[in-house]
Amino acid sequence: MAVKHTPTGEVHSGSKGEYTGCGTNTNTHPDHWVNTSQSITCDKNGCK
Ligand SMILES: [Zn+2]
Repeated sequence: MAVKHTPTGEVHSGSKGEYTGCGTNTNTHPDHWVNTSQSITCDKNGCK
């Protein structure tokens, strides 16, 4: 599963409502995150 940060268009590992692979809490700004089937573009530890 991947989750997209809509303001940046960056795709992280994880799901909306959880932490991304790189440790961002998607509940802080839930309107900024959508689940997606796109491939992950984040290159931080935990996502790539
Ligand atoms: Zn990430």
